[in-house]
Amino acid sequence: MKTMKVNIVTPDGPVCETDANMIIAVTETGEMGILPGHIAMVAPLRIGALRLKKDDSTEHIAVHGGFLEIRPDVVTVLAQSAEMASTIDIARAKKAAKRAEEALQAKEENLDFKLVELELKRAINRIDVYETRA
Ligand code: ATP
Repeated sequence: MKTMKVNIVTPDGPVCETDANMIIAVTETGEMGILPGHIAMVAPLRIGALRLKKDDSTEHIAVHGGFLEIRPDVVTVLAQSAEMASTIDIARAKKAAKRAEEALQAKEENLDFKLVELELKRAINRIDVYETRA
């Protein structure tokens, strides 16, 4: 089976450098499946799980926005933050989700609704990726 290289990079450094037979990403226009040899393109990403299929296993990575750069033999993800399922601190993610939910419910006067909503989405994404890890 053909493979392509996958690099996931954040401001903190590289998160993952591996090979995959197929990548499934959540882009702004919907879910996208990428096979080796895909035409070159760039797509903005949503907060979501990046799935890397290799042989019989699937690796789940929590990616929080950013960009996907596709070239026929290399796919690069540039994101503000990203974590492999195995490095997710589930207690921290649950705490972050609870904090954001409480802030949204309290509706305080100076609440930055969009910011807190994004915090909640990141936390839910981490919890989902942790729970579906291989
Ligand atoms: P928190 O409120 O818990 O800090 P956050 O969504 O505000 O979460 P980010 O700003 O997205 O955090 O990320 C800051 C750094 O912390 C990044 O390096 C990110 O990978 C890491 N990080 C955040 N939450 C977790 C988690 N639950 N498990 C592992 N790493 C995490």
